[in-house]
Amino acid sequence: MLELSHLTKRYGALEALHDLSFTVRPGEIFGFVGANGAGKTTTMRVVLGVLEADAGSVIWDGSPITFAVRRRIGYIPEDRGLYPKMSVIAQLEYFAQLHGVRRKAAHAASIALLERLGLADRAKGQLQSLSHGNQQRVQLAAALVFSPELLVLDEPFAGLDPVAVDAMTEVLHAEADAGKPVVLSSHQLDIVERICDRVGIINHGQMVACGTVDELTERGPVRFWVDVPGAGAGWYDGIPGVTLAQQEGERWLLQLDDEAGEQAVLRAALAAGPVHEFRRDRPTLTQLFRNVMSGTPVDE
Ligand code: ATP
Repeated sequence: MLELSHLTKRYGALEALHDLSFTVRPGEIFGFVGANGAGKTTTMRVVLGVLEADAGSVIWDGSPITFAVRRRIGYIPEDRGLYPKMSVIAQLEYFAQLHGVRRKAAHAASIALLERLGLADRAKGQLQSLSHGNQQRVQLAAALVFSPELLVLDEPFAGLDPVAVDAMTEVLHAEADAGKPVVLSSHQLDIVERICDRVGIINHGQMVACGTVDELTERGPVRFWVDVPGAGAGWYDGIPGVTLAQQEGERWLLQLDDEAGEQAVLRAALAAGPVHEFRRDRPTLTQLFRNVMSGTPVDE
């Protein structure tokens, strides 16, 4: 398990991370999201040991992380780290050997990964001859080729088409299923919402919300969309704690003081006409993120 505990990092006068804590459990894909400059890359670099925190610690399986463990991290850096003129296979073998894998095993692991990522036929080509998406796949292969214990991926989906996203997602799920903690940053919140077990939203270096997508999106107001054709205005009047939030034709978005009012609203809707829809309205991760950025507390 990876634990980041009360990390603070300053660049001169700028405090890039402030008392930042979160945990990534074995087998979990943790999505780390935040606006540009929020502190995601800084956090990942602290985990990698490329940067030193001014305060706080990075804990791996209960003890402060060591150099030996850091060598077992599969990393996709934000500023990609591959060699354009080297062949795909040569650089995978090189990265594997850099992490202590012997030559023969490095070759076998590289071939296996290229097959898994659908790039076997490009093995001997120069990296620069590949499309951006395929270079990204090679970047993922470079992070996996030495069988890391933990994955730290800075914007792995940047610039990928939906098919490439699916291919990468499949590989990440397989790694997580093998018990590895996976932490990734992304601005593509729809992908994060779909694939991450838990999500942390960081703003100005501080964690402002953290939990499963369901936990985060449940925190908003209790609202239901109710579609009752022919019910007429005000059919919900008199139900305690219910107010109108929005109306679209004969669909009403009603806000309830608490979840206990749900059955009363449903009964009133059934009495008013045929109910075509009765659905809890939950914000998407993107809406939640916008609320956080605009300063709306996520638990209101
Ligand atoms: P993005 O989504 O744009 O990649 P990020 O969340 O990864 O952003 P960081 O790159 O961690 O954000 O940057 C956090 C803050 O620290 C920003 O204000 C950035 O300008 C600042 N910063 C990052 N690296 C340095 C550096 N080497 N020297 C000074 N300031 C830095």
